[in-house]
Amino acid sequence: MQACDLLIKNCSILTPDFQIRENCFVAVSGGRITQVGDGAEAEAWQAHEVIDGEGNLVMPGFVDGHTHTCQQLLRGRTADEYPMIWTRFLVPFESSLSPQDVRASARLHCIEMIKAGITSFADAGGVHMDQVAEAVVETGMRAAICPSTMDTGNVVCGEMKHSTEDCIRLTEELHKGYQGAGEGRVDIWFGIRQLMTCSKELIEKIVEKAEELDTGIHMHLCEHKDEVSYCLQNYGLRPAEFMESVGGLSPRLLTAHNVLLTEKDITLLAKWGAHPIICPMANFINHGFPKIPSFLERGVVPGIGCDGASHIALDLFTQVRALKAGTMAFWGLPVFDPVAIPNQTLLEMMTMGGARALRHEDDLGAVEEGRKADLIVLDVHGPHMSPSQRPVNTLVSSGNSHDVLHTIIDGKVVMKNRQLVNLDEKEIIAKAGEHMEAVIARSGI
Ligand SMILES: [Zn+2]
Repeated sequence: MQACDLLIKNCSILTPDFQIRENCFVAVSGGRITQVGDGAEAEAWQAHEVIDGEGNLVMPGFVDGHTHTCQQLLRGRTADEYPMIWTRFLVPFESSLSPQDVRASARLHCIEMIKAGITSFADAGGVHMDQVAEAVVETGMRAAICPSTMDTGNVVCGEMKHSTEDCIRLTEELHKGYQGAGEGRVDIWFGIRQLMTCSKELIEKIVEKAEELDTGIHMHLCEHKDEVSYCLQNYGLRPAEFMESVGGLSPRLLTAHNVLLTEKDITLLAKWGAHPIICPMANFINHGFPKIPSFLERGVVPGIGCDGASHIALDLFTQVRALKAGTMAFWGLPVFDPVAIPNQTLLEMMTMGGARALRHEDDLGAVEEGRKADLIVLDVHGPHMSPSQRPVNTLVSSGNSHDVLHTIIDGKVVMKNRQLVNLDEKEIIAKAGEHMEAVIARSGI
């Protein structure tokens, strides 16, 4: 008899090559998957905690590769508004957030994700990010976070804009205080809010310091025409070319949005191993159609991001279904390509695509022995899921975040039967409501 912390028995698993293996068990110890085996062998394990999978599906937790915890309390506010969302809403709102607002916002953000089966995320940065780190530690989440970094541009940004030196110092201090916090669940990265709000000097320093601290860089890239135009006017280069010229294209770079890319730009990102994150709903509504087939042709499977809760729920099922439909309508149908974006690729984007971008490709993104136990158990018995001739296809076409029964992060069960284990959901929602009212009044939006 072997001992383990957690045993999920009587389950199916999603294999690393996106097949469904039935009648299995998963044993977890010390935060890692110690064995994935066939049903009867589960009897060999004595577990501290046992979850009866009841024939449901164990799969890797989803990775949200681009979000904004600080925009959680803007929910419902930015849809159907005329420009400029950035100057009319985002800047006055974000720059008015107190540390307590940020904490309440991040707690809600984390529990919304846990309930949607998202077990890790990358945040593009806001103010008071120490409070986000605290919320990540408290809720049991996993995240790569950074301060929102800006040192130039003519928008009045209050607390969001700093001198070049202070931008670096603030990130270094956060790194010193929180890198590896929560038993290794918190990573502190550098942020480049966007090329229009960061000087060349700052970007060069960020590239240098990220290498020194061996950490990642999260930036918005090629989201808007204005950004490409700014880059051409100021540097005579397109954004991806500019990033290459300062040595910024590398596997430590996560680029969010990636819409206004030429074929040459995509080749550059692929050549240097930068990690693109696609934000389907935000892209289709505000920016355009990312060239998904061009990424896939170069062997690059991007990650997926919800881009924060101001305009949509934090739910990767919604995002990949939008991506499928949008990619087919814009790229697939005009050239009669019915497999422009296969369902298995979408599953890879939700899991391993994000794991790679978060610099955890060896640890996250698959149900496999030795990897960290960031797992979800999905109810596959609902009338929208069962029976199915091709369960993997049905998972993508019909699964939704409410089907997530249990969420496990770093080997710890944080949601069981849709109930948060150590957190008071009602209290977190109520607190967020109070802070939302206060920050609306303070920011004048
Ligand atoms: Zn964003």
